[in-house]
Amino acid sequence: MKIKIFDTTLRDGEQAPGFTMHPKEKLDIALKLESMKADAIEAGFPASSKADFLSVKEISENIKYSSVAALARSTTSDIDCAWEAVKDAKFPIIHTFIATSPIHLKYKLKMTEDEVLDSIAFHVKYAKSKCPFLKYAFEDATRTPKEFLLKAIKTAVKAGADCINIADTVGYSTPKETSELISLIKSEVDVKISVHCHNDLGLATANTLAAIEAGANEFDCSIIGLGERAGNASLEEVVMAIKTRYPQFELSTETKQIYSASKLVSSIVGIKLPPFKTIVGSNAFAHEAGIHQHGVLENRATYELMNPDDIGIPQNKLLLGKHSGKHAFLELIGEMGYSLTDEETAFYFEKFKELAERKKIVTRRDIDALLINLSRHAIKRTYTLTDYEIMSYKNQATAEITLSSGDKQHVEKMSGDGPVDAAFKAINSLTGQNFVLHDYSIHSVTEGKDALGEATVKLALNDKIMTGKGISTDVLEASIIAYLNAVNKLISDGGDL
Ligand code: MN
Repeated sequence: MKIKIFDTTLRDGEQAPGFTMHPKEKLDIALKLESMKADAIEAGFPASSKADFLSVKEISENIKYSSVAALARSTTSDIDCAWEAVKDAKFPIIHTFIATSPIHLKYKLKMTEDEVLDSIAFHVKYAKSKCPFLKYAFEDATRTPKEFLLKAIKTAVKAGADCINIADTVGYSTPKETSELISLIKSEVDVKISVHCHNDLGLATANTLAAIEAGANEFDCSIIGLGERAGNASLEEVVMAIKTRYPQFELSTETKQIYSASKLVSSIVGIKLPPFKTIVGSNAFAHEAGIHQHGVLENRATYELMNPDDIGIPQNKLLLGKHSGKHAFLELIGEMGYSLTDEETAFYFEKFKELAERKKIVTRRDIDALLINLSRHAIKRTYTLTDYEIMSYKNQATAEITLSSGDKQHVEKMSGDGPVDAAFKAINSLTGQNFVLHDYSIHSVTEGKDALGEATVKLALNDKIMTGKGISTDVLEASIIAYLNAVNKLISDGGDL
């Protein structure tokens, strides 16, 4: 049986606190999901902001393989807005929802059960009059009395819903309960069933698998499990669990893209995955204990459940140096799954040469770090770093920063408590904006004393927060680039993010 993936990284994931993405970054993620052959991409919640509306519209116009879904509450204005945003998609979906649990009815909706049923019937018909495919979700379904939930489902199906979505909104359910609930629904109603499981008790993947075993046709998921609170069922976990343990189910996912997709998303939202993260963490396929190493050398299957190649994990072998030519570079990036235009090849080959000058050995992980920020839809770079000079002595530092903007150069010198503080102050002064630093971190991308450093900043301007990244063998340079990256995102976005 075919099981469909409905990815919500760009909707449930992006709406979680601190994970706001620039519209161009959302488009990059959507294209990545399409290249992974995700069946459906939930691109956003158009009624929530103008920026989200425009972003869903842009994704709808660019995605051809996957369906594109827009979320809407059960109101005519939300549905109109969702339809306007997805109507140009090749396969548009409106995803409408209403809460069904007693606590949501009483405190949030302030509606009776009958009013909820009327709203379902009306809004399913309304949405279906516009969009050929309607997915209707029951929020907090797992805390809803079964009798009322079944009534609500039957109402939606009768009114024309093409798929129903059983949401475990607060991560309350257990695998056994999920399985029983899906079996009950299947025995009463003939409709495609999707599940939306949250991970508050660490059960999202287990509940999703239980639902699939019981006959669910589709599951909501997100890359690295990004989502509200403890997140959603993670795409990589559910996909690899199905591939590894459930040969009876078919998925169209290209698993070799999983690793690069998780890198892309974690890089965009500015989080470093814990080493023990399932499937894609840096330790997921590392073996240190002697007895394990011995086993793996004899036969990988002794301690490895999955093959790292199936997930697209680059092996950290010694590969290129400063004498490597363009041919070797192209062959390697091709092998790693990247395809570049001639212009990009010239640009990244130059970057590679610069790196090889600073770092004797360039590994696949270094190349990954360079290319992960490759955006097909470059965010307008209003300011670029031309030069910097930093002096630091104990707790005092001065930074002289030169930025170019168009064909003009601007120089500013500021002092601060430390070199990074001084540099960031100089950039604020140069741009004339009071950017506020919310978070700043540095970590090494690869091993060794000449490792690449990656800086991440979360920067705010008037309630908008954006993540900026910078990579260099010099951590100060990485920090300045990261800050400018966030500055450029904040000032290039016209919408009310
Ligand atoms: Mn959710």
